Amino acid sequence: MSRFQQWFQASGDAQQHLARLFLLLVGGVLLLITGYWLMVLEPQLHENARSNANVLAQSHVKAIADVLSENDRHPKPEHLNQVLDEILILTEQASGKHFVQRIELELDYDVLGMQSGLIPMQRGAAACVECFVTTLPLYDSRSRELLGLVRFYASDHFYRELSSSARLHLLLAASLVVIILSLTWHLIAGMMRKIRSNERTLQSLFEASPLPMVLTRPDSEQVLLVNQAAMDYFKVSKDDISNARTGDFYVDKSDQLHILEELQRHHQIDQYEFEVRTAPGNNRWVTCSGKIIDYKGLPAVILGLTDVSTFKQNQQALSLARDAAEAADQAKSEFLATMSHEIRTPMNGILGMVQLLQRTPQNEQQSGYLNAIATSGEVLLDLLNDILDLSKIEAGKLELSLTDYDLHHQLDGLLISLSERARRKGLELSMEIAPDVPSWLHGDSKRIRQVLINLIGNALKFTESGSVTVTVEKLQSAGDAVELQFAVQDTGIGIDVESQKHLFENFSQSDSSISRRYGGSGLGLAICKRLIHAMGGVIGLDSEPGQGSRFFFNIWLRTAEQVATYNIEEDSAPVRLEPLSVLVAEDVLINRHVVRSLLESEGHTVFEAVNGMEAVTSLQQNDIDVILMDLHMPEMDGITATREIRSLTDPMKAQVPVIALTANILQEETENCRSAGMDGFVMKPFTIEKLLNELSVVLQKRDPTHLN
Ligand code: ADP
Repeated sequence: MSRFQQWFQASGDAQQHLARLFLLLVGGVLLLITGYWLMVLEPQLHENARSNANVLAQSHVKAIADVLSENDRHPKPEHLNQVLDEILILTEQASGKHFVQRIELELDYDVLGMQSGLIPMQRGAAACVECFVTTLPLYDSRSRELLGLVRFYASDHFYRELSSSARLHLLLAASLVVIILSLTWHLIAGMMRKIRSNERTLQSLFEASPLPMVLTRPDSEQVLLVNQAAMDYFKVSKDDISNARTGDFYVDKSDQLHILEELQRHHQIDQYEFEVRTAPGNNRWVTCSGKIIDYKGLPAVILGLTDVSTFKQNQQALSLARDAAEAADQAKSEFLATMSHEIRTPMNGILGMVQLLQRTPQNEQQSGYLNAIATSGEVLLDLLNDILDLSKIEAGKLELSLTDYDLHHQLDGLLISLSERARRKGLELSMEIAPDVPSWLHGDSKRIRQVLINLIGNALKFTESGSVTVTVEKLQSAGDAVELQFAVQDTGIGIDVESQKHLFENFSQSDSSISRRYGGSGLGLAICKRLIHAMGGVIGLDSEPGQGSRFFFNIWLRTAEQVATYNIEEDSAPVRLEPLSVLVAEDVLINRHVVRSLLESEGHTVFEAVNGMEAVTSLQQNDIDVILMDLHMPEMDGITATREIRSLTDPMKAQVPVIALTANILQEETENCRSAGMDGFVMKPFTIEKLLNELSVVLQKRDPTHLN
């Protein structure tokens, strides 16, 4: 039998005790009333009746004595009998009962003129056993001589009536008390039944709960009750419970203190997580909820436990996995940054040298070779850019750069830059912008341009003859925003329905023979889709094999006010700058050589530095207009050098514009450049046009007179 059952049994016994107590109480009350009747009330009534009989006798004795004391001394017996009869016939008016039943006289012989002795006389009923008998002396009213004795037999009728009436009242009072007691008992028994039923429900819940439950006292470590689930969980038997101490189960005592504190403060605790020792050497994680309840008239703590070890293990595993994933992600980012730097730096050298070679006189064959190197380099660069872009998007590091820009101007520039490619393939490249398409918009112009370059590039790639048409239409507008549809239609090879389904997935090409024939990584459209999604738009296509394709994307853009700004397109012709003194800080010799040659060919003077420290010194010693600063250099990197420059005491030197030469794609680096006080940055590898354009933008911001 579990302790709970014992307790429950005990509470059942208590109810029986209470029932017995009530019966005793009823018996006691009845006994008390009976005793009161027998010992007190009844004798008192009897005594009263007796004294009343006495008074009655006293009141009649004089009349009898008077008859016996008459002058002629010997009264006639008739006269005496008459007086006695008068007394005997006296009755109570209400009941008609006689007061006196019988009168006996014992007279001296002398009184009745007899010879000698006592003469007995009696009148009334023959005998009266129950009557109250009062014997009184009879004296002569004149001589005070004793005449004899008179004995009155007063009726006990009045006493019996009074007695039975009193008994009746007493009986009624006793019955009332018994009824009240019974009702009280009934009420108490009902309440007890209710309590017992609640206890039974509690017991069933406690016993049947699949959760381990423990009942303890808040101020002691003694375990009062545990249910079966708790016994199984803590691997204890019924016999062990009485010796068990709550403190044995806590791995960390501070948890026990915390739980008790919470219970004392709020009378309950919710979902507190801690570690318990279920068996020697076996710890488990649980959450516990508990309450202070009343148990056997004293406060007790009932605690319910839920095992969360698996959840906890999963959580820990997840957290480890997350740490590992974050570390892997970090490693990936670092790898990408390194690769970007490591590949772009030599690419800068290769493409820069090609640019320089292209500026020297060549025969047709040499020019062909140079073009091939340049094209291959650009393809390689595109591929590198695609991979880096995709990694950036997948790492969630894509950040949109929203600016106000002139869409028409941008599209014109784009078409000009791609028209050469179209012309070479004998394709017609045209653009139609609907008249209601606003020119000034707010958005990430560079990303839209990137998507368009990709789609137009693909159209040109997969079209052998015919045309490629770019259209821009307004689909709808709302407030100051417009939804535009950009579409690129070609008359190329088209795409079958099956391939269309996977076209926007990474590394997807409609046909493996295509990659062999046309080249490409299959990343372009995947990047386009993600970029368009990031801008809140949709991308799609209509295509039929052999008929051509129409790629389109719809995107919402806010319209913007036209701003009078100096706007240089990346692909536009180089700007002319007046001769400048340019300090080139770059550790790779070949890159220094490329930049020097390109700038000198444009009529600028170049100073060289192989690290940041040299750059700061050179700036102080020479008259420098602008600095091109590589970021990663030995001794002192570009960012530190820029900070040093910005803190120089000579204000002219401290304000010299600094342009970063970066081979890295990480956003953090761009932010570091800005916070160090750099004015702009050029991504490696760069063309002379890009370099000059960035130079002019930066210088124009500082001093517009540099522009020719
Ligand atoms: P890739 O760098 O290989 O061109 P994309 O993601 O840009 O990668 O394109 C994926 C594939 O979709 C291409 O290999 C080609 O099979 C198909 N494709 C894309 N654009 C066109 C088009 N205009 N006409 C026909 N096929 C196209």
